[in-house]
Amino acid sequence: MPSDPDVPADPDCILCGIVAGTIPSYKIYEDDHVLSFLDIGPLARGHVLLIPKAHYVTLDTMPDDLAADCARVLPSLARAVMTVSGRPDFNILQNNGAPAGQIVNHVHFHIIPRREGDSLGYRWPAGKLADDEARRLQQAFTGQLR
Ligand code: 5GP
Ligand code: ZN
Repeated sequence: MPSDPDVPADPDCILCGIVAGTIPSYKIYEDDHVLSFLDIGPLARGHVLLIPKAHYVTLDTMPDDLAADCARVLPSLARAVMTVSGRPDFNILQNNGAPAGQIVNHVHFHIIPRREGDSLGYRWPAGKLADDEARRLQQAFTGQLR
């Protein structure tokens, strides 16, 4: 998908308000396409958000170029979070849809410093991939990506 610079801001969107400057934020990085600022409800000291300036609700609806603009910033932003938080470990979390934990409906990436024993926790209840199911899934993906 090509980038669309004419996506209108959503007047009801908190993050569009932050981009416009009508809602205050503690900005830490900005370029033509993306903005990063402190999360107002941090899960750890140094928890920041990175957003595209244009209003897209979920990652899958974003133009590839804009997603690339976000991804390009992530390593340096992560290094800054590591330095400021003093923590070498972090999660990048990007929630899409309510069941996935999305509350704010404008694409955002969390960069969250982590430490052993912090209160955030981590659940990864891994299943087991059977060969027949793997073959069915691989078939289902055929032609989905070009
Ligand atoms: P989600 O659950 O949608 O992935 O995360 C939304 C995040 O946005 C939360 O971590 C929340 O603290 C943050 N947030 C919500 N409203 C504001 C706000 O007005 N300003 C800032 N800086 N962060 C916000
Ligand atoms: Zn928005």
